[in-house]
Amino acid sequence: MSDLKKSFYLTAGISSEVFDFGEKILKSLKDRFDAIDDNAEMNQLKVLNAMQKCRVSEACMYPSTGYGYNDIGRETLEKVYAEVFHTEDALVRPQITCGTHALGIALSANLRPGDELLSPVGKPYDTLEEVIGIRQSKGSLAEYGITYRQVELLEDGTFDFEGIRKAITPKTKMAAIQRSKGYLTRPTFSVKQIGELIAFIKEINPDIICMVDNCYGEFVETMEPSDVGADMVVGSLIKNPGGGLAPIGGYIAGKREYIENAAYRLTTPGLGKEVGATLGVNRSFYQGFFLAPTVTAGALKGAIFAANIYEKLGFKVVPDGSESRHDIIQAVTFGKPEAVIAFCKGIQAAAPVDSYVTPEPWAMPGYDSEVIMAAGAFVQGSSIELSADGPIKPPYTVYFQGGLTWEHAKVGILMSLQKLVEAGIVDKEQLI
Ligand SMILES: *Cc1c(COP(=O)(O)O)cnc(C)c1O
Repeated sequence: MSDLKKSFYLTAGISSEVFDFGEKILKSLKDRFDAIDDNAEMNQLKVLNAMQKCRVSEACMYPSTGYGYNDIGRETLEKVYAEVFHTEDALVRPQITCGTHALGIALSANLRPGDELLSPVGKPYDTLEEVIGIRQSKGSLAEYGITYRQVELLEDGTFDFEGIRKAITPKTKMAAIQRSKGYLTRPTFSVKQIGELIAFIKEINPDIICMVDNCYGEFVETMEPSDVGADMVVGSLIKNPGGGLAPIGGYIAGKREYIENAAYRLTTPGLGKEVGATLGVNRSFYQGFFLAPTVTAGALKGAIFAANIYEKLGFKVVPDGSESRHDIIQAVTFGKPEAVIAFCKGIQAAAPVDSYVTPEPWAMPGYDSEVIMAAGAFVQGSSIELSADGPIKPPYTVYFQGGLTWEHAKVGILMSLQKLVEAGIVDKEQLI
């Protein structure tokens, strides 16, 4: 069996040593993979239940055009999201262009001139720096008189509760809590940790709106930040909740008032949720959300496999090979740009789309250094699909995520290792 399987890998360009090394690592991961399957099973039930309770029907799959009034598919889908996240309401739209846009809407819709935004978890995701105005940008919150304050995490990656207490003033209107590490090597927070942080903030002032950037975290646990007090959870549909099928979109789920504000900001005052044609994307939104728990499970397995492979080879990995997971991102620090590039070339070469192109570092809008991205995706930039990206700056860390199936994630990781071996960065002797 193993020989037959190996022959398929050899045909795909993976050497015998790399394949055998992967199989050896996999043997040690059985219990963890079983736990991930259990988690996916519970989340599958959660989504299925929500779809049944909200009476999703064939008519929900039909497209609307023009104003999109009375789009039953759109309205029901928003109920399904609210049901899954246990929130009063949700905004789930193809007009939300990406995760940054969803976050930008949630922020600008609920903050007013004179308000202050607090990040109690250190620096936010790169693209939000321009939304907030940390880096000067046209149309930022700063231009509208909304101030910003940030409290760094402690050395060990935990919350600086005393610093947070001091940073909260009568102006503090909202706290933005980023669940996932993003392009940093800090730990990703568990839902439980986020709950503790929200409880602490609410004790100081219960009126502070706690918004969680939930990107990459959906369905990794059986609870979401909205189950532990978050007033809003926000994310991208070309990550976990789109299940790889959503071709565009973002979501905001939370308290009715905040979602209403977000809808008025997304469309326009007076129109809000009532407009927004879905042009035929409803089916992929539903089907993607339905598949999201198992797709996320496959991506999680890939992340854990990659962590164990590269940890064994002596590279720093965050999270490490054995710790519990709270998002689907795996960071591997290689210490040199050639390794980041070789890794990304492997991921690209393993893609179903654009496998023949060679990724190169490039200046990307919203990022402050050159970035190399490997993305041979059916949906442009989709990072629930097998993908990797790394800013070309020290410590030369690559961020790997996704894989619509575990099997594909496995091929991609083995191919990344193959390219590192071919580039002479990993020695064949290390694979024995
Ligand atoms: C991806 C991501 C975003 C931004 O999403 P885009 O769809 O790339 O705009 C924001 N925050 C975090 C933590 C992310 O991972």
